[in-house]
Amino acid sequence: MAIRKIREIGDEVLSKRCKEVTKMNLRTKILINDMLDTMYEGMGVGLAAPQVGILKRIAVVDIGDGPIVLINPEVIKEDGEQTGEEGCLSVPGKAGVVTRPNHVKVRTLTEDMEETVIEGEELLARALCHEIDHLDGKLYVNLVEGGLHDVEPAED
Ligand code: ZN
Repeated sequence: MAIRKIREIGDEVLSKRCKEVTKMNLRTKILINDMLDTMYEGMGVGLAAPQVGILKRIAVVDIGDGPIVLINPEVIKEDGEQTGEEGCLSVPGKAGVVTRPNHVKVRTLTEDMEETVIEGEELLARALCHEIDHLDGKLYVNLVEGGLHDVEPAED
């Protein structure tokens, strides 16, 4: 188990476009496991590789139903709309209201580099969109309606 340092807003690595993953290797497997550990440690529902300083198209999500690993993910369908609070481990202590699709289909590779399609609604749709945005160098703060506000740190 290894917790990696989470890069915070203002770090230029968070505004860069990530590169596609072309093959799975031990280094990338370790990265994915470390990303999961780092996400759980931070009590987040998702984490993207640039948040730990790696410009690869990899993200992890867990909204409480178990971990999902995304490699080269791409939104192929979206519909509906949801407006709600969103936060980010790279923007500690803050949250803001963001409108996202209520339902998305995402084409992705699994950790075994097999193509699959994941469907998500509500929180999962929000988390998928948020993480895929990170891979394109986009932060949710630019989508916030009405400004960011402070949140109490999570207690555990
Ligand atoms: Zn984020």
